[in-house]
Amino acid sequence: MPIKGVKQGPIVVEKESVTIRDVELKGHWNRMFEPRVISDYDLTNLDLVASLNGGESIDFCYQCAKCVPVCPVDVVGDYGPRKIYRKLQLGVDLTEDPDLWLCTTCMNCLRVCPKEVNMIKIMPAVREVAINQNKPVPSELQKALENTARYGNPLGENPRKRADWVKGAGVPVNIMAQVKRPVDVLWYVSTYTSYHPRGKDTARAMARVFSALGVDWSILGIEEKDDGDSQRLAGEKGLFEMLAEQNIATFNKYQFNKLVVSGPHEFNAFKNLYPNYGGNFNVQHYTQFLRPMLDALKPMMKKALNLKVTFHDPCYLGRHNGEYDAPRDLLRAIPGVDLIEMGRCRENGYCCGGGGGGMWTDSFSRDYTKMRLSDRRVMEAVETGADVLAVCCPFEVSRFEDAVKATGNEGKLVVKDIIELVDESMK
Ligand code: SF4
Ligand code: SF4
Repeated sequence: MPIKGVKQGPIVVEKESVTIRDVELKGHWNRMFEPRVISDYDLTNLDLVASLNGGESIDFCYQCAKCVPVCPVDVVGDYGPRKIYRKLQLGVDLTEDPDLWLCTTCMNCLRVCPKEVNMIKIMPAVREVAINQNKPVPSELQKALENTARYGNPLGENPRKRADWVKGAGVPVNIMAQVKRPVDVLWYVSTYTSYHPRGKDTARAMARVFSALGVDWSILGIEEKDDGDSQRLAGEKGLFEMLAEQNIATFNKYQFNKLVVSGPHEFNAFKNLYPNYGGNFNVQHYTQFLRPMLDALKPMMKKALNLKVTFHDPCYLGRHNGEYDAPRDLLRAIPGVDLIEMGRCRENGYCCGGGGGGMWTDSFSRDYTKMRLSDRRVMEAVETGADVLAVCCPFEVSRFEDAVKATGNEGKLVVKDIIELVDESMK
């Protein structure tokens, strides 16, 4: 792993005088004290970031530090936009610094920053430079990017097995290529929901709930490819554009009213990014799609679950897209669910660590933080006394289940997608 070096030290240049806007300032300007040198900085690396398309706002930072306490990485390490700015100011080359890969683009800093320093644009822009210049990239991430280019999914799974999960669903699942008619709902299943063992559980639960509600729905099956948004945020814009063009061409082959998605990352991609490439669809996260159907759903949810449930807001559904209530409304409608909130929730929700390519940098981040963000979040969920940590993002079931084991909380907390709880109460 070539990048596991020691963090770079600052480069401080000491000068006897500097010229600012044609005015020369000497080191002995302050006559109250002995003559002294002026500490000046080599701003080449800061200017380089600010010159990138997307990197401009780094220059706006005025070091107020509001961003640091809300940054999830700082909670488990030493991080935040202010600290990144300061390192750049001191001459550190961000394209070679491990800090480049720690930001999850969770957006909590942007929420509080008075100057709108936008790490969601800055980090992908610098990562793109690092990748293009063959700078060290975490090996796990490199593999995920290569898999995406080769197989259309970051897991490196066989594209022909993308719809294998339908076998255990217990209800018929339509595939668009076979239906040959317009449908009301095209359900984009997503990579982790299609392939990960726990993702497949949620896929099957979703199929059963759609079926029970009489939804006219279908999936793409083997024609579906990863949405590419996390790869874009990890610095592979070209890969994202290739996937966007392929997915849009596939969507355009068929007629449907709504594009319902399993997770927040594809929601963000289809709603906010794909229109730039000519793909305009009526996109809904599955919780948003189901919420207006609660009147029909409630009589079917006959089994009281009798569980204390806490909910983790996914950054890309909540902060990035403003949806906090649809998942909660669904949870509250399930009989026997007692919803309790964690201290950090809604706008200030704590990141699971999976966004912005973080899904593929866990082993790398371990060397630069005290614990994974998912471990920290699971500890917060346990503190509430909840039996269940409810999620609605395909990244999170696997991340948090792993974190439950890693923090020694097996038997205390289980992780379930909201759709699994809905499905359970319908049995
Ligand atoms: S909140 Fe914004 S302006 Fe303040 S230190 Fe952080 S990035 Fe800089
Ligand atoms: S986007 Fe999130 S992880 Fe990245 S610097 Fe801002 S608060 Fe920290």
